[in-house]
Parts: sequence; structure tokens; C-alpha cells
Amino acid sequence: MNASVATQRRAVAKTSRTSTPAPVGGIDLGGTKIQAAVVDAEGKVHGDARRPTPTTGGPEDVIAAMAEAMLEAAQKAGTDTSKLGGIGVGAPGSIDEGTGSLANASNLPGWSEPFPLAQRLSEALDTGVRLGNDVQVATDAEARLGAGQPYPSLIGVFWGTGVGGGIVLDDKPWLGRGAAGEIGHMVVKRGGARCPCGRRGCMEAYAGRRAMEAKARRDREAGKKTDLFKIAEEHGRDRLTSGIWARALEHDDPMAKKLIDRAIKALGAGIASAVNLLDVDAVIIGGGLGVRFGAPYAKRIEKRMGKHLFDVDTPPAVHVAALGDFGGAIGASLLWRPAPSR
Ligand SMILES: [Zn+2]
Repeated sequence: MNASVATQRRAVAKTSRTSTPAPVGGIDLGGTKIQAAVVDAEGKVHGDARRPTPTTGGPEDVIAAMAEAMLEAAQKAGTDTSKLGGIGVGAPGSIDEGTGSLANASNLPGWSEPFPLAQRLSEALDTGVRLGNDVQVATDAEARLGAGQPYPSLIGVFWGTGVGGGIVLDDKPWLGRGAAGEIGHMVVKRGGARCPCGRRGCMEAYAGRRAMEAKARRDREAGKKTDLFKIAEEHGRDRLTSGIWARALEHDDPMAKKLIDRAIKALGAGIASAVNLLDVDAVIIGGGLGVRFGAPYAKRIEKRMGKHLFDVDTPPAVHVAALGDFGGAIGASLLWRPAPSR
């Protein structure tokens, strides 16, 4: 890390502390849960609430749940949504920033056609609403307030149900033409395993939780031994959550170990390839599995990356995301906070 950059950044943070702009809201709109938070100018959370993402109905139902979560978060923060400086939403799918509409959100019920999310939520909560890509805003949060603070350029890798990615180059989010950062679909094996995206050999086909669970089910049906599903049942889960994978690893479950090893090899190859292209200062690993497994697994990914890095003398720093579960909501709130310059 560059010391003068860090000093400068601290100076910027100090200056902004003297003013007290209104708190803003951030909502992380995920396929499983909606996380809302009221965040101050320094990125501190003053109130939060979550709701399960509706699995049936359509956009109106999802927006109603988002509004409920935000109202509760504001109440906990001792304020009202109309008094917030605005609300940012990190959403999956195709976002039209101009119209504030969201389309092709395949993890949300009945949400393929464009729907005016920003406008409807703004009416419900009586304040402005801005939309951003869920993974990119989480990456921005890590870059500005989390583990990525010392680094001008980084990639965020969100290892969870799928494998999402975000890119920050010279302190600016890199969005490409709107679809940059799809690191989960880096090809790590030509003609390899089928990815949930329908293509073959993507990193996500080996490392995404959804793909790993499908592989575990197939292997179990083929007679291979595992306690993964027994542990899930004991914990009242019908899916293999990050916690279930972690428990199975603690019990030295052979299938869990094998599939996680396979995931780490894929992550090492895919992330290193992205680094070879962009030569970023750092890689921040987040997501349900990334945060749950923490530093020891980030270390394993880093080690595996080493086999594929072209420039072996100056590898990027590898860190676990520091903002945890709130990263998405805090990142969404940053849509209302212009980035300070270094
Ligand atoms: Zn894919």
C-alpha cells in the first residue's frame, strides 16, 4: 500500500466528518433476503431491518417488502424515510439508471419485464431512490469503506449462490457497457461442467453454491457418501447454505471437502486470469461462502491463484470483505455519496 495515498485518504475522511449531511438509506435486494439500513456519511449503520424476498407474486410484492424493511430500519434509527437524503438500491438484473427501472431479475418473482422500481419505491417512502448493480455497489463499499480502502484498483469476488464480481479501476467503478464484472463466467475449463447460466466450464459451474449443491445431489444419487444433506436436515434447511457447508467441513465430510477443493481450484484459476488482464492491487473476497469461510480459505484461494499468475513478483493482496452482511446495503447507500478523491 502507498502510505501517502492512505494519509491523503484519512485527511479526506476527516474533512467530511465536519459536515453532517443527512443519513441515507441503502437496500440490498437479494434473491433470498432484502436487507435495509440507514447509513451516515461515514458509512456507519444506525438502523437496519431485513425481510425475506417474496418468492411468489411480482414486482409490487417485492417493492412492498422493500418499503417495509426500509420503514423499520428508519424507525430503529430514530428517523423517518422522508427525512433521509435518499435511498440507494443494489439490485440484480438489468438496470436503467435513466428511468430507474429494473428488468431481467431472474431471482425475483415475475420480474422479467422492465418495472419502474425507483419511482414506486420513491412514492412509498417519500424520498428519492437511485439504483445500482448489487455486486458493483458491494464492491464500491469495500473499496471506499472496507478491506479495499488502501487500494486504487481492485476486484471484488462474491462467492455465494453464484459467483459475482465487481471492478474498481483508479478509484472508479468499471461498468463496461453495463455488464462488466461477470467473473463467475470466466471460463476455467473448456467444455467443462454445465454452469447455471447454461454455458460450460465457467468458474461458477465449480464454485457457485447452487452448482455445488446440484453436483452434491448427483454424486449422492450415484452412491457417494456424504453427511451434507443430513446436516442440512438437522438444521431445518432444505438447501445447502454456507453454514451447512462449513459444518460439513468441520466434520471432515469427504464430499464437502472434495467439492470445496474443486471450487477453490476454479476460483484460483478464474481470479488469477482476471488479475493477469487487469493487474489490480487487490482482490476482495466476499459473498456468503467467502465471508463464512473467512481468512483461511481466502489464503487457500490466494495460494491457488499463484499457480496461474503471470507476474509472480507482485501478486495482488487478497483480503476477506470487511463489511460482511451489510456490505450490499452500505454500498447501495453510497449511490448518494459522491466518491472523495484521493
Ligand atoms: Zn456461466
